[in-house]
Amino acid sequence: MRFELNFCPRCGHLLEDREAFGRIRRVCPACGFVFFRDHKIAVGALIERDGHVLLARRAVTPQKGKWALPAGYMDYGETPEDALRREVKEETGLDITVGDVLSVFPLDNPDARGVIIIYWAQTNTGEPRADDDVSEVAWFAPDELPEDLAFESTRQALALWRTRCLDASR
Ligand SMILES: [Zn+2]
Repeated sequence: MRFELNFCPRCGHLLEDREAFGRIRRVCPACGFVFFRDHKIAVGALIERDGHVLLARRAVTPQKGKWALPAGYMDYGETPEDALRREVKEETGLDITVGDVLSVFPLDNPDARGVIIIYWAQTNTGEPRADDDVSEVAWFAPDELPEDLAFESTRQALALWRTRCLDASR
């Protein structure tokens, strides 16, 4: 995976690959600008209600047609909690209360390197409706989870949730 930034965003000169700060990076020979690639940060919600978890079927690539937690990328300047409330509202129409962090996972999206922070979340009112980049939303019990899950982070977060549900029912 290679992000081709060809021209210096500061002065417009053609960038070169050079060693800088310990590895090969894109550097501007005219003004000294060094391009540091940033990771993407995504946030996701494990929304629980009456012993069921809310999943959303993706209407976009990657993993189109598969089930994932409501999630999306943080916009620049947003807090993770604000980004999560916005994404869940866009995809499902629901207002949520954001709880503790469930876990942090590496993104397994072929188009992006970074992490996804998954939070526990609650919602008390209203029924979800699919919107934005989601084709369907549904509540699932721990023993009725769909097979076609989108991401490794989806699988791992749901496995943690199932374990917690089983512990609670003992
Ligand atoms: Zn430059």
